[in-house]
Amino acid sequence: MRKKNVVIEHVPVSGYAAEGKALARHDGKVIFIEGGVMPGDIVDVRLSKNKKDWAEGKAVHIHSYSDKRITPFCQHFGTCGGCKWQMMPYSLQLEYKQQQVADHLQRIGKLELPPMSPILGSAHTEHYRNKLEFTFSNKAYLTNEEVRALNGEIPVRPALGFHVPKLFDKVLDIQTCYLMQEPVNLIRNTIREYAIQHELSFYDIRLQEGWLRNLVVRLCTTGEIMVNLVIHHEDKENRVALLDHLLKTVPAITTLLYTINPKKNDSIFDLDPKVYFGKGYAEEKLEDFVFKIGPKSFFQTNTYQGEVLYKVTRDFAGLTGSEIVYDLYCGTGSIGIFVSRQARKVVGIELIKEAIDDARENAAMNQVDNAEFFAGDVVDICDDAFFAHHGQPDVIITDPPRAGMHEKLVNKLLEIAAPKIVYVSCNPATQARDLALLDALYTVEKVQPVDMFPHTHHIENVVLLKKRENNQQ
Ligand code: SAH
Repeated sequence: MRKKNVVIEHVPVSGYAAEGKALARHDGKVIFIEGGVMPGDIVDVRLSKNKKDWAEGKAVHIHSYSDKRITPFCQHFGTCGGCKWQMMPYSLQLEYKQQQVADHLQRIGKLELPPMSPILGSAHTEHYRNKLEFTFSNKAYLTNEEVRALNGEIPVRPALGFHVPKLFDKVLDIQTCYLMQEPVNLIRNTIREYAIQHELSFYDIRLQEGWLRNLVVRLCTTGEIMVNLVIHHEDKENRVALLDHLLKTVPAITTLLYTINPKKNDSIFDLDPKVYFGKGYAEEKLEDFVFKIGPKSFFQTNTYQGEVLYKVTRDFAGLTGSEIVYDLYCGTGSIGIFVSRQARKVVGIELIKEAIDDARENAAMNQVDNAEFFAGDVVDICDDAFFAHHGQPDVIITDPPRAGMHEKLVNKLLEIAAPKIVYVSCNPATQARDLALLDALYTVEKVQPVDMFPHTHHIENVVLLKKRENNQQ
């Protein structure tokens, strides 16, 4: 029974589990299935894990398709890791996300829930991202159909696109991506075409050589377009020629940077992007707040839904102008700044020092003078002396990364016992775990999922917690 490489046939897919894996029940077991299937499909699954109560595997054959399936709009669907849920109507995607939040909060959190508000869908289901990063590779990924059509003569050709999931050295050459508005496709395709024509080398990740490495494009709702080209080493003549060609072909670019990355990894965090054209950053707006975004700054990737998310957060905080608000995991301070006019004071905390520099600059740019930002680990910074010095919080807003909050921080929040906590999460599983601990002192008052990433399984969820009446001091 526990053997590997077992194929189970004719399994009806019934739902979704965490991380976008499809789910089926078979012989009293839960099976988690990867590989582009959706509820209603009947599939054969090759198991990679086979435990007593559950198994995991990949769909190797689809016998019949769900009648709810629709035709994906992107030519790269199925190979690209980007928008794996395109075969489902958007309304159905939202249903599964809503379900997922309820499942997690009830099953992992074992929480008593108020009626959940319906998930707020994205008005833009295409072209909703404000930032994309493409990778250059000297080895394009070829689909099975391409390989077959080539009759065994497989050429090695360069690519500029997205990494293929699980294949670290292969990049899918992207022609049209629907995640961001034009001119993103024009920018990427212009650079690729020029580079191939002029025989500029694309990076080889195995050999750690080649010139062109990454291309980052940011498009703001203000119309500003920032492009950062990452190259392995300086080659002034080719660099200037390529960047000039790009500016000439795409005059809408407002800031063009290049970054030299001789390291093994792709992170530009410890590197120094150089401005080739423009002011070196872009400006984005949420309501009438302006945010300065540099090539290394973090900003919510869906601006429209970012605004929706922050409005829900501000709403849940229920501010009247007299509150001391803490903004934990504040990034570049955007939530804190967004709520600052309704608060007496905002205290933001964030691990990355550069983000705190941005937060301070953003606050100044928006004439926010009641917000202070501190760099460091929330677990270290949030001690009694810090709260005593900056004031007992009336509302704590927390927006941790996918891993959720450190248990030490959760315990500290239980000690501090602010009347309200607004928990913004990009991972309902870890949120549920944290809420279960906070349940000792807090009840869940409101739950509002927000969809930031159509056609993906990712969910953002905002929860309002209120201190229990009988614990009020
Ligand atoms: N609230 C922000 C950013 C949320 S992303 C926004 O809406 O834009 C989560 C942030 O938590 C990241 O900026 C990350 O750098 C920060 N972070 C991760 N671990 C941390 C820790 N232990 N202490 C403080 N900040 C941390």
